[in-house]
Amino acid sequence: MHISCVFFVENGYYVDLICFCCLKVSAQRFGKLVDGKCRTLTASHIRMQHSSNPDIPVCQFYEEFDVHGKQLPLPTGIYNLDDLKVYGKQKGWCPYFLARYSILHANIIVYSYHYLLDPKIADLVSKELSRRSVVVFDEAHNIDNVCIDSMSVNITRRMLDQCQNNIETLQKTIQHIKETDAAKLKEEYRHLVEGLKEAHVARETDIYLANPVLPDEILQESIPGSIRTAEHFVGFMKRFVEYLKSRLRVHHVVAENPPSFLKDVFDKVCIERKPLRFCSERLRSLLQTLEVADLSNFSPIILVSNFATLVSTYAKGFTIIMEPFDDKTPTVLNPVLHFSCMDPSIAIKPVFERFQSVIITSGTLSPLDMYPKILDFRPVIMSTFTMTLSRTCLCPMIVGRGNDQVTISSKFETREDIAVIRNYGNLLLEMSAIVPDGIVSFFTSYHYMENIVASWYEQGILENIQRNKLIFIETQDAAETSVALDKYQEVSETQGGKPDANNANK
Ligand code: SF4
Repeated sequence: MHISCVFFVENGYYVDLICFCCLKVSAQRFGKLVDGKCRTLTASHIRMQHSSNPDIPVCQFYEEFDVHGKQLPLPTGIYNLDDLKVYGKQKGWCPYFLARYSILHANIIVYSYHYLLDPKIADLVSKELSRRSVVVFDEAHNIDNVCIDSMSVNITRRMLDQCQNNIETLQKTIQHIKETDAAKLKEEYRHLVEGLKEAHVARETDIYLANPVLPDEILQESIPGSIRTAEHFVGFMKRFVEYLKSRLRVHHVVAENPPSFLKDVFDKVCIERKPLRFCSERLRSLLQTLEVADLSNFSPIILVSNFATLVSTYAKGFTIIMEPFDDKTPTVLNPVLHFSCMDPSIAIKPVFERFQSVIITSGTLSPLDMYPKILDFRPVIMSTFTMTLSRTCLCPMIVGRGNDQVTISSKFETREDIAVIRNYGNLLLEMSAIVPDGIVSFFTSYHYMENIVASWYEQGILENIQRNKLIFIETQDAAETSVALDKYQEVSETQGGKPDANNANK
């Protein structure tokens, strides 16, 4: 069988781009919500309830796929998300599960780094990939940032409040289950005494890609007695969240390392390191036992439990920074705890350990010998190739002054200077009048871009640029940005980036 599956994905979640279920799932705006709603229709306990009570809704596309789709592999070809949607519609199968299932049979998979490097997503999508797969990280010049981001956690006050709500909901659900189906909790307790043997065996026998949030040692042990019963665990989380809240009452920036943080947790609320390490797995088991289908509501407590596991697992490679103010609103008190990964090798280690061949490539991997050091691997071959172009199509140019002779620079001290902002705007305006196709203008951060665009708007520069070119602005919303990119490409190809003369205000 020769199948090539191709996925074009921006942000690590693709169920929101591909779901076409009519049961109000695809109408959701955010990936997490679609994911949550989808689970309320496809979770095994919901499907079981549906078999005895047909009024409980399930997703027909999933049911169809489950019955017929798994036996029939995708025909040979190359599929992107749209192709899978079309194929899924024809067959009446869910394209999301079709994609996930096809990954196991595909010869080539093209997807975002997050699917391998982010433990939450890799666990779902890539953990069963064959050991003999060849992994190619293309455009890998920022692979260290992706690794760092995937292991970092930010916790705000608001999140901790939501976490307390989650804990209250869990307490009520546990009470309800105790009254109606106490055997379920007993069964869970028995299971937890046995530990995570299955996961341990799967990892040992090379079936699964390892997960850095699930340390090896905890797979060999049973869950500690202090958090084994559901009530004790919820009480434990409550204390930990209270502690985090007290730590967020800061008036100046505090930085500390994980060991000193753990010592303080022990001194203040008598929480030891060992049960903290099991938090993420213990919560997962509890949510499963309580048959919580829509996990999107529980994301705050999932995040805090992941933080608990990470902070108690890694003594090195992470730092904890507590800040009283958020970067965006430096005058409004809004404390944030940043648990920042400083060592990209932690996230990529399972990939190097599992796959036989890993290739890291990019046009701008520089300096080349820095990457083996920061990602902690021993390269078998390292090569640099010179770039050849069929015609001269690059003209790097540094503009140091504006047309009024004021220095222009994006360096931090002069960024807010009104003359610098104006000169950048004028430069773009003049370029927009003479460049025949589209122009892409880069900014050093979203925050900086927003300030500059607001300033250009006030100075009337944006209005003048709009006479020459349509303007598309990137936002942090991946779906919105992908629409903007499509439109940009369309306008650049058909109108040279210019506004449509017949419909200038479009
Ligand atoms: S199973 Fe597929 S089609 Fe159904 S709700 Fe989930 S993602 Fe949508």
